[in-house]
Amino acid sequence: MSLLLTGLAASSGIAIAPAYLLVGSDLSIKKQHTADKNHEVARLRDSFTLTTKELKRIRQRAHQNLGQQAAAVVDTQLEILNDPVLLENLERLIRGNAYTAEWAAKVTTDHYLTLFEHMNDNDYLQSRALAVQDVYKRLLSHLMGVRLPDPNSLDHRAIIVAKNVTPTDTAQFDRRYVAGLVTDYGGRTSHFSIMSKTLSLPVVVGTHNATSQIKDGDLLIVDGIHGKVIVRPTDQQLEHYQLLAGEFAREQQVWGALRDQHTVSKDGRKYEVGANVGTLNDIKYAHDNGAEGIGLLRTEFLYMDQTKLPSEDEQFHVYKKFVTAMGEQRVVARTLDIGGDKRLGMFKLPHEDNPYLGFRAIRIGLAKPEILRPQLRALLRASAYGGLAIMFPMIATPEEFTQARDILDDERRKLGRAGVAVADSVEVGMMLEVPSAAVMADAFAPDVDFFSIGSNDLIQYLFAADRGNSRVAYLYQELHPAVLRLVKRVIDAAHAEGKWVGMCGEMAGNPLATPLLTAMGLDEFSMNSSQILRIRSLISHLNNRQLQPLVHRALAARSAREVEMLVKEYVPILRKE
Ligand code: PEP
Ligand code: MG
Repeated sequence: MSLLLTGLAASSGIAIAPAYLLVGSDLSIKKQHTADKNHEVARLRDSFTLTTKELKRIRQRAHQNLGQQAAAVVDTQLEILNDPVLLENLERLIRGNAYTAEWAAKVTTDHYLTLFEHMNDNDYLQSRALAVQDVYKRLLSHLMGVRLPDPNSLDHRAIIVAKNVTPTDTAQFDRRYVAGLVTDYGGRTSHFSIMSKTLSLPVVVGTHNATSQIKDGDLLIVDGIHGKVIVRPTDQQLEHYQLLAGEFAREQQVWGALRDQHTVSKDGRKYEVGANVGTLNDIKYAHDNGAEGIGLLRTEFLYMDQTKLPSEDEQFHVYKKFVTAMGEQRVVARTLDIGGDKRLGMFKLPHEDNPYLGFRAIRIGLAKPEILRPQLRALLRASAYGGLAIMFPMIATPEEFTQARDILDDERRKLGRAGVAVADSVEVGMMLEVPSAAVMADAFAPDVDFFSIGSNDLIQYLFAADRGNSRVAYLYQELHPAVLRLVKRVIDAAHAEGKWVGMCGEMAGNPLATPLLTAMGLDEFSMNSSQILRIRSLISHLNNRQLQPLVHRALAARSAREVEMLVKEYVPILRKE
């Protein structure tokens, strides 16, 4: 019997493949003694051998997929495991106290972790603690004979099914094998969903119960267009979805012809459609999909999976690569935006009940100049190599922007005095994603070079609906007149000062929003590369003059549903959306 699960369509396309459950097994253990100490020591040694092999395999995969830095993270684990003192300690506990190998491992791990806890606030030790926990989990899994979820161990084409996936997990996925993703939790604009779009995979999030309904190896159809997952499909369903997948592929081919074209509406207005990127690997996808620049470089991925903050030089080399890879085109780099659902292992953020409303993004940057300043210096140095622009995330008040900009100017002066090359003009803008800033856009406009509307956060704050919470996803309405009125306000305020406005939230890639955004005068769209050609194609069919009455009526509408119907009335090609 097939089973239908519904969720939120987070990244489009259709995948048909067996399920691979990425769910942790229960590794809880009780204190137990052994009657056969030799046997216990032998089991322990076996688990060390198996864990070493496993980690070496993971290291090799990480190296292939993500390069040397990612592989180095696994080295820490190997170092801990191969430290002879660890094995000696464990054996002593088994021989001296007649503990089972599992219990000896637990006692020792707890001991190390308590030591680390007391040495808090040291980034190195914290990452070490994470590595110790990981080694412990792996040893235990071999002792207990249970499989650990590990995105790196996938060696065949499969659809990953997980409760939740962190951006760090996503970064480890091997594109050759991951055919699609299904999660229990998450909203369409959680950072995980956004990152998986960069992988161009069909993704359905927020199914609530996928991990309890799907078994490892079950054949699945993931319909990332409509947010459906079919478990153990019938022949008829398979046939239907194979046809749909073919149609999707054909459509993509038609859009492919626009790869090297500019984005121009039917009435001749030019727009820029750029890519959102997070890693150097994404650049290739941006080029393949005809990006006209990078509208959002999420720099936080440089900080994730690291054991310490990246140095100014390390950052500079990476930013330089982005800028040179894009040639003449603009690269808008956003300063570090962590907090919310983006956490760093090496930098422990305080626990907060509402992290999205808490210590996040520029708030951290301003409070911790030792993080912001080296990043700004690295960015300024990279600006000498191409069209780099810098923007600050989560600006809520003009004072925050002024403060951030003053720090930037200060670093620029210092570099100038030291004779370091910096571009003559570097555009400096801000993300428009906090409602207070959108309402006051006219107060910011004279001082910025551009705005980039972060619709993901703007909408979550506007509707007070957590972007990662599928229970309140119904409130997350990109087409709602409340959103449109704010967007219009921002565009008008910027244009009154002769500044340009972009949008880099997910709304920029929503075809139903495109006619409204183009007709309201948005200058730049930035999105996951997989959507660029589709939006370029759509814009080429739009006549902005004819769409002005649509804007007028949409702004006066009462609901997102009403706006959607109006869009479909004015733009018939969108009726199938
Ligand atoms: C946004 O909020 O719309 C945005 C682009 O930033 P992020 O999704 O990284 O918070
Ligand atoms: Mg944001």
